[in-house]
Amino acid sequence: RVLVVGSYNQDHVWSTDALPAPGATRLGRYATGPGGKGFNQAVAAARAGANTVFIAALGDDAAAAQARRLATADGIDLRDQVCPGLATGCAGIYVDADGRNMILVAPGANAALSADFVLAQQDALDSAGVLLAQLEVAPEAVLAALQAGRERGALTLLNPAPADAPTSAALLQAADLLTPNETEFAALLARHAGRELAAEQLATLDEGALHDACRALAPQASVVLTLGADGAFVSHGHHRHGDTRGYYRAPAAPADTVDTTGAGDAFSGALAAALAGGMTPFAEAVAFANRYAARSTERAGAALAMPRLDELDG
Ligand code: ADP
Repeated sequence: RVLVVGSYNQDHVWSTDALPAPGATRLGRYATGPGGKGFNQAVAAARAGANTVFIAALGDDAAAAQARRLATADGIDLRDQVCPGLATGCAGIYVDADGRNMILVAPGANAALSADFVLAQQDALDSAGVLLAQLEVAPEAVLAALQAGRERGALTLLNPAPADAPTSAALLQAADLLTPNETEFAALLARHAGRELAAEQLATLDEGALHDACRALAPQASVVLTLGADGAFVSHGHHRHGDTRGYYRAPAAPADTVDTTGAGDAFSGALAAALAGGMTPFAEAVAFANRYAARSTERAGAALAMPRLDELDG
């Protein structure tokens, strides 16, 4: 079973030829749908075949009702902390014809997710094989979730996103597995290991240098650094999770990519599902996550673009 602790947002997406300058008005097209890294990853885990529980904080509004409906539609066991007087998390996303975007997020209820609420979900914590969290909800709730998950024997997976979210040494230590993208990895490396490496530089480093950087960041944990169209780089710490090699590149799967929004969420959700399902060695689970994430880029959107198992390899 996968237990996801994280955010739910209502995404409002405006597409336009060119983004308006400050003070300007332009015409565009509009669509709305569910999002938030937590929900995206919960949907990915569920559609990748895992029995999935999702702990989130919702407002007292229509968006919350939709969140419950959508979770049910995907067979996700939603445990929602209702926050009276707060709005459900909400994101305004503006995209131009070149795919460049501008995004504003109002965290709303996500910022109020409490450690007490997470810890009260005893049965979910007890039965989790993998606990998966990100950094779009209150930091105390994330730390409590990871620590409680580990205490109860779950493998703890932290997707340290977004890159500018605050992090602590205790938070990193509570994760058995980290899945940063290049931007997030560079930010963590500067903050926690005092090493300045530009995100764009990472793809050019040799495997030994990448492994060394991963070890400097998280001496114990395994790091799966996602590299977009280049797939991922795996660096193990204390446990190799069935792998023979301590570090290696895992190439991306081929894809007719139209929209990479949520690719990282697809990857983390699918990796959690594979590991919770007992897929070994670790390299197999990473290859599955690469295939799953590649397929997710072939459709526009985030949560609702997550593929189902029968859509893989087809
Ligand atoms: P994020 O979405 O967080 O920026 P990445 O861009 O690293 O994360 O993408 C996450 C994963 O999605 C990659 O490790 C890879 O498996 C898959 N992916 C992303 N872009 C492509 C692509 N163009 N072709 C195939 N797979 C891709």
